[in-house]
Amino acid sequence: MPWRRKPARFLRYWTGPVDREATGASGKQFKTVLVYCVNCHHNGRLKLADLPDWDWSDISAHLECTGCGRVGWVDTRIDWSEVVDFNKGICG
Ligand SMILES: [Zn+2]
Repeated sequence: MPWRRKPARFLRYWTGPVDREATGASGKQFKTVLVYCVNCHHNGRLKLADLPDWDWSDISAHLECTGCGRVGWVDTRIDWSEVVDFNKGICG
């Protein structure tokens, strides 16, 4: 395992391996995740297919913000807008 740093205590990284087969309620597959920088609130998307074969906690610890340059200060979230039609609503 390459270099990694322990995340700040208030950061909660996802743990475990990347689930590349993750699907939403509608059966659509997630292709990207949203990554927020908790330092400068910059955000971006990562393609699941481009991620290394590491656990989420290791990937998170290596992400560098392109806005402020902080490493590992990220909050990762699944990209729900890909699988949820917000015009229709979740129950539709
Ligand atoms: Zn930043």
